[in-house]
Amino acid sequence: MNCQHCNTSIETGYTLCPECELNLTLLILRLATFTTPLKASLDSTLHPGGHQPTRTNLPTAPTPIRLDVLDLIDQLDATASELARWLEDSPQETAFTSIQDALIRCVESDLLPRFTDAELYYQTLTRLEQRILNIIDTPEETRIVGRCPNQLCGITLTAPSTATTITCPICNNTWSIQDVKREWLRQLIHEGKKTGTAAECAKAFTMSGITLKRNTINQWAARNKLTPVGIDTERTPIYRYADIYRIATRKHQTELDTTTTVTA
Ligand SMILES: [Zn+2]
Ligand SMILES: [Zn+2]
Repeated sequence: MNCQHCNTSIETGYTLCPECELNLTLLILRLATFTTPLKASLDSTLHPGGHQPTRTNLPTAPTPIRLDVLDLIDQLDATASELARWLEDSPQETAFTSIQDALIRCVESDLLPRFTDAELYYQTLTRLEQRILNIIDTPEETRIVGRCPNQLCGITLTAPSTATTITCPICNNTWSIQDVKREWLRQLIHEGKKTGTAAECAKAFTMSGITLKRNTINQWAARNKLTPVGIDTERTPIYRYADIYRIATRKHQTELDTTTTVTA
């Protein structure tokens, strides 16, 4: 016998291994806690994102309840009741007082890891959870900030766009976002040997606070202000970060600019 979800071999008579049974149980319990925020999201005037500037304000009043949320609640209700009835091996008339009640009864059933359609419900409930999370928990936009300034660590750090500090998940140091950006650029420039394509350089500089377009770098190269130090496997020219930094920070000194020569 193999676990329907992860395919490891299991005791005869079971359909899920103990680990997958635990994960399914936790999934069902999470869904039980989602029912309240989900119902709160029904009100179209209150849902997260309702105040976003991108929200379209229609000339006519919107439907007072969100039909997509209503549909999701119905699906969760139907799936939970159906699963609970199967697991209780009880006649179709079994009534549940709420979605939560049905979900809790599923978790309490001894049949959960021995149920024939375990994997089918596992997948259905996983999809429902994803759809519910998209409604009750609008994902925060995260972006790459730079590399961890800790020389021994150096992993790429990401943070929500509103964050001002960041704690490295590897070395546990807390940095200000500004410091991470500055340190990253400092390393790229002062290592001297660090190179990248125009696109890579533009991205690194812009993320570190010096706005630079890829086209600008290409133009510098076309006007011989900047000389590539080689080409990559796709025959794209690569440049030294240090060279680009020198030109970028001199941009306002037009006269100097025209005489700047960068040797490979
Ligand atoms: Zn398993
Ligand atoms: Zn670190």
